[in-house]
Formats: sequence, structure tokens, C-alpha cells
Amino acid sequence: MLICPHCGAPLVRKEKAFCCESGHSYDIAKAGYCNLLQTNKSGDHTGDSKEMVAARRQFLDQGYYEGLAKAMCQQIKQLTKDKEDIQFVDAGCGEGYYTRQMVQALHESGKLKESIGIDISKSATQYAAKRDPYTQYITGSAYHMPLEDHCADVICSLFAPTPEEEFLRVLKSDGVVVCAVPGEDHLWELKCAVYDKPYQNREEKYQLHGFQRIGRQKFTYRVHLDRPEDIRTLFAMTPYSHRTSKIGMARLEALRELDVTLSFVILVFSAEETE
Ligand SMILES: [Zn+2]
Repeated sequence: MLICPHCGAPLVRKEKAFCCESGHSYDIAKAGYCNLLQTNKSGDHTGDSKEMVAARRQFLDQGYYEGLAKAMCQQIKQLTKDKEDIQFVDAGCGEGYYTRQMVQALHESGKLKESIGIDISKSATQYAAKRDPYTQYITGSAYHMPLEDHCADVICSLFAPTPEEEFLRVLKSDGVVVCAVPGEDHLWELKCAVYDKPYQNREEKYQLHGFQRIGRQKFTYRVHLDRPEDIRTLFAMTPYSHRTSKIGMARLEALRELDVTLSFVILVFSAEETE
């Protein structure tokens, strides 16, 4: 599935690098990931920092989001039940918490042909690569994925951007896009604790142009957080954490424990048929 980000030719693995026929070569790091990001060659200034990756990983490892991971695995298995040689892409895979579980499920079904996880954060792909023997992790952008046209049976996007045109380019004509987005009441109690006027999430905004929605599954459960650092990490994982006032942040810091609603919606899309 991989193509050269420089010239677009197919990439072939040669020992410790991916190479194209024009002689471009990309080293595979010892951890197993490959950086195909053309810009930002120095350091790791894009995407999540090492500290954010570590905090999120620590939080996810406690299993609060396991319900979502299980539901995603079920969805993927169901959606691919009539397919063979599945080519799977997780766009915006983060540290691979969901990727490796979904890919494991496909691998167990004996149908996985190739799996690619893409994330803009080098720290995230590095961490993911160490823990998943079935997926090639790539440091790259979901907006310009170094992938062939119409190669993917499944593209996943969990709490990640959904660039429609790029998804349409990479997806097979009979492929599906599976998104996980926050439900209306996701983290409601946490928002109430931090904000004067909390807003619910709006599910309608998760529509993909050029696609039709063919499936939806919502589920909601409550968890009890009794470690302040978990509460802070959970908040830092949200998109609104960057635009929270000092007062709000102080309220967050003061929270010692919290019962909070987790609510997720899994949306399944297929490409709209064009005449
Ligand atoms: Zn090339």
C-alpha cells in the first residue's frame, strides 16, 4: 500500500529501509516505524509530544476506553466478514491503543493482508510500533497519506481528522470508513466541573462529504476516576483543553475524584456512488 512521498512510486521494503524505483530511500527506525513526513525532518514538533503520548498511554492502559476498543473490533469484524486479504489503515492512530486491538482481531480471523498506522507524531508511532507486530507504523499526515489510490478496505479514524478527499482517494470503491467520535454527553460531569456554561458535543457535525452513512452505534457508560492525574489526562485528551481559562484550569487541578460519563458514537461510511 505504501508509496514514496517524494515521487509517488510504490515503496518496497529492502532490509532496514523502504525504497522506490527512483532511488528514494526511507530508513526504518529500530523501533519499527518509518518517518515518511517530508517536512519537519528535525525533532518532533508536530503532533503529540512524548509527554502527552506517555500520559495518554498511561490513562488508556487502565482500561477506561476498553469498551470502545471492543466495540470497534466488533464493527471491523462484522464489516469485513465477506472479505479476504484485508488492507487496513488507521489514520491518526496515536500510540496504537485501538489499532493493535483491531488489527489483532483481523489477524485472528486470518484475513489480514496488510495494516498501516499513520500518525503525525513521531513519539506516538514509535511507541505503537514496539507493541504491534502486524502493523507498519508511519510518521505522516492523514491529509497526505503515503498510500496508493484505492488500496484500503477499511480506514479508521478515532477522534482524529477525517480529510474526505484523501479518504476517497485511498479507499477501495467497496471500502468503508469507520469513525469514533464523542457522543453528546461525553465527559459531561468533567465539563460541568470546569466550565460555567458547558456545551454538549454535536454529533451532526460528523458528516463526511462524498460519503453516505451506513451505520451508527452509540454507547454510554460511567466510570469513577479516583486519581487526579487521570482526570487531568482525560481533560488534556479533549480538543477544548487548549482554550480553557485559568479559572477553569484551577478548577480542574482541584478535582480529586470524579464520576464521569463516557459516551461514544461509532459511525460507518461508504463512498457515495457517482454516476
Ligand atoms: Zn521516490
